[in-house]
Amino acid sequence: MFERWKRSRVTLLGIAAPAPLLDRLRARQWRITPQRRAVASVLTGEHVHLTADEVRQAAQALVPELSLATVYNTLNELVVMREIREVRAADGPARYDPNVSEGHHHLVCRVCGTIYDVVPAGLPGLGLDRAERHGFALDDVEITFRGRCPECTNTTADARPLNRPKS
Ligand SMILES: [Zn+2]
Ligand SMILES: [Zn+2]
Repeated sequence: MFERWKRSRVTLLGIAAPAPLLDRLRARQWRITPQRRAVASVLTGEHVHLTADEVRQAAQALVPELSLATVYNTLNELVVMREIREVRAADGPARYDPNVSEGHHHLVCRVCGTIYDVVPAGLPGLGLDRAERHGFALDDVEITFRGRCPECTNTTADARPLNRPKS
């Protein structure tokens, strides 16, 4: 279960990381209980995109009594605070991303579901002309690049479901 998580933390693209989530939360004087600290500290690093269940598993290793409800409440609160982003780049449940830097988008392997944070070339100031906005007030943009990661390109396995059952 944690293999993908570990792999997703590998730095390949060298994006300058923003301040770690816990540091940002301290700076905002967010009330940091042990439970909340466990959730926030799991969402640390680059290319981190964890499902709520992955957050729960990793955070419970730090605070065993942590409940799923607390995990969800904390994640929702952090999303509302815009300190993490809810990402739906791959199939399956939403993933939570501590990288909230503007202009970062996602590169997703269709086979294994690995997600990298990427900064596309040639997209500074990407936006929609007024005529294309249909009256919307825009507050976010998310672009997903899809393909096969090197590991999956080198295997002959055909595309497996992104969220294969836990074995
Ligand atoms: Zn892959
Ligand atoms: Zn991301």
